[in-house]
Amino acid sequence: MKSRKQKESFFTKNLLLWHKSSHRPLPWKGEKKPYLIWLSEIILQQTRVGQGLPYFEKFKKKYPAVTDLANAPEDEVMKLWEGLGYYSRARNLHAAAKYISNELNGIFPDQYKEIIKLKGVGPYTAAAIASFAFGLPYAVVDGNVYRVLSRYFGIEEPIDTTSGKNKFAALAQALLDTEKPGTYNQAIMDFGATHCLPAMPKCGDCLLKNKCTAFQKNTISILPIKSKKIIKRQRFFNYLLIDFENKIYIKKRTQKDIWQNLYDFPLIETDKIIDGQPALKENIFFKKWLAGTGAKIRGVSAPMKQDLTHQRIIARFWKIEIQNPGFPINNNWKAVPHKNLKNFAFPKVIDLYFRKKLLPLKLF
Ligand code: SF4
Repeated sequence: MKSRKQKESFFTKNLLLWHKSSHRPLPWKGEKKPYLIWLSEIILQQTRVGQGLPYFEKFKKKYPAVTDLANAPEDEVMKLWEGLGYYSRARNLHAAAKYISNELNGIFPDQYKEIIKLKGVGPYTAAAIASFAFGLPYAVVDGNVYRVLSRYFGIEEPIDTTSGKNKFAALAQALLDTEKPGTYNQAIMDFGATHCLPAMPKCGDCLLKNKCTAFQKNTISILPIKSKKIIKRQRFFNYLLIDFENKIYIKKRTQKDIWQNLYDFPLIETDKIIDGQPALKENIFFKKWLAGTGAKIRGVSAPMKQDLTHQRIIARFWKIEIQNPGFPINNNWKAVPHKNLKNFAFPKVIDLYFRKKLLPLKLF
């Protein structure tokens, strides 16, 4: 028991020592405004710092206060978020800003149990905001923390089980420097992100190596342990690029599915890839939507891939020409001049299509 306590205090002491000389200078560090801390933490969920940084700057500039974000139109917020992925974060951010603005008079909550009630804020983000903004003693636990703790303490219990999660959360809380919870949390996050890396951790140069179990036992590459593998569902999206008089049809994704509130093109989802024109023409939606339009398929792109956490999207873009505008088009669709497409937020796979200016590979 005594040696366990010694190992814990050695960890906290040396982690803080490491942080003094090696912390990452980031624009939100030392920030005390809870709104900006919250904004940075939401942007950094599932996102690398390098990718998130310009988004933080854009949001901070456009919406300097929580009320500015609350009053912004939803399409504008989604457009600003475009390219960052995990769009539910943007929707939740906007909803929470409205809640703070309308229900809390624009004052950010200053207690953990209130912070965690905000949409899109889980235990990790609540602990980060509570400790950075208000100096409250809550330890953060995320992927970096699981990795560092499992290696240093040699914990082989899976991190994705309830008992594993509870064990890591209790250990993280026991290690927290309650005098400086914000500094400690920042230290362990930086240490995981820049030093105890998933592949090639910098063990040779590590203040913890003398007491690091994984280093001593050569088990670094197997820790942390996960019990389940994510099985990705494959989905096949056939996007119809329906052009008429320099306008193209787009639609808002309103259904409960991926990319909610982003825009895309009329979509036919199939259970396998569609390879040739006849198969697309035979599709029931193609027939229904385009009956009487004189539609001609002019080309198709190569399949393009976008990986999400639980899904793999394989998308093809079909270029369609129509002769007759008065067809029974779906009410959700809107015809947009090509030059105005930049005003709408699209998922990554469509952005990629635009950016690479991928002409259909096969022209018909
Ligand atoms: S010795 Fe290596 S594995 Fe152990 S904490 Fe340091 S960097 Fe991580």
